[in-house]
Amino acid sequence: MPELPEVETYRSALEPRLVGRAFRRVAVHDPRLTRPRDPREVAAELEGERVASVERRGKYLIVRFVSGLVLLVHLRMTGGFPVEPASHERAAIELDDGARLAYRDVRRFGTWVVLAPEELDDYLATRLGPEPLGSGFTASFLRRRLEGRRAPVKAAVLDQRTVAGLGNIYADEALWHAQVHPLRPAGELTADEVGALRRGIRRALRNGIARQGADLGDGAYPSGSMQDEFAVYGKAGEPCPRCGTPIEKTRAGGRGTWYCGRCQT
Ligand SMILES: [Zn+2]
Repeated sequence: MPELPEVETYRSALEPRLVGRAFRRVAVHDPRLTRPRDPREVAAELEGERVASVERRGKYLIVRFVSGLVLLVHLRMTGGFPVEPASHERAAIELDDGARLAYRDVRRFGTWVVLAPEELDDYLATRLGPEPLGSGFTASFLRRRLEGRRAPVKAAVLDQRTVAGLGNIYADEALWHAQVHPLRPAGELTADEVGALRRGIRRALRNGIARQGADLGDGAYPSGSMQDEFAVYGKAGEPCPRCGTPIEKTRAGGRGTWYCGRCQT
């Protein structure tokens, strides 16, 4: 599932292809992508629009048009914009330079939402906390979000209102960096541990961006190399890169969770 580093990699790849270009023709083949709106209506609304910028917020891609209109794309499980022709195409955009941009989604959970400019901030504000790599993601913000919560810290940091863009993979990697056990009740972390967790989250995400995300072999996202450098994610039985103890697997918040039982306390 694409998380912040994978979505950021798409953003930076799409930016030079899209900025300054107009959407000449748009075809949405799958009504699930735009529901409850009619896909033909959404496609017609996007035709003729010229791209001003390609931005990212959490796991959302934001295509902002010169007119002010916004296309908000969430890739969910398996959405993506392949460079090569691929199966499971759900939409296609023909640009005014003749290029064709395909949207692919095997599991069909991705969404396209068209918003007026004044709707965007509210839409995102109700769903997302601050950007974890921005200045708003402070230790005191994170402490307030975790305060009093009995849920495992792993589950707490997967809440997008706490850490926008964090998902299962980078949460495990962040907790390993922070040396915090994923099943600790979130509200019981000390101030030092919250500070370490904040740094761990930022480090895990920056590493992911630098490696252009992770390719998990599902064909959804083909170019990253972060999977070669995971410390704990998917590594049950392999030695912890810090202390050599075999990595363990458990569940937290309903998700498979990998950690070192010795150096994460
Ligand atoms: Zn260890």
